Amino acid sequence: MFCPFCNKKDSRVLESRLTGENSVRRRRECEACAKRFTTYERLEVMQVLVVKRSGSREPYTREKLMAGVRRACAKTMVTAEQIDDLVDSVENELAMLGKKEVPASLLGELSLGRLKELDEVAYVRFASVYRQFRSIEDFVSELNTLKDTQTLLENAEATVTSVTTDG
Ligand SMILES: [Zn+2]
Repeated sequence: MFCPFCNKKDSRVLESRLTGENSVRRRRECEACAKRFTTYERLEVMQVLVVKRSGSREPYTREKLMAGVRRACAKTMVTAEQIDDLVDSVENELAMLGKKEVPASLLGELSLGRLKELDEVAYVRFASVYRQFRSIEDFVSELNTLKDTQTLLENAEATVTSVTTDG
């Protein structure tokens, strides 16, 4: 999203609000000049169908993805704004793919890639849900790639049961 004042590309989303069925109003702040502006975006991504493991399809909803990410980020240092940005970024990538249907696992992987940069505990929680059908060895090797494995394991064990998905 280009800043209308200085034309730089990077802006921070201050607030997002659905204004209709297919559009969202966003208050943004330019990271270069710090001026604020409002954008109205049509959400092409809202028309994407998500193909679940069972093969059934359902329309993509931002709220559902947001809820999963929020649960994974509970009691971490991740802010509501970062979660909003994360979901924005996943939606942008989906929109760029330009597909009518995407597997639920793709949504999971796109979110995971971003969570990994934000918070390792949230990442592990989310991974344990989206990769639940893989082996325990995979899960452990994933953990081993992260710092403070023991702490992460304790945190993940303590919270993983509260994370649910029907993806
Ligand atoms: Zn600017």
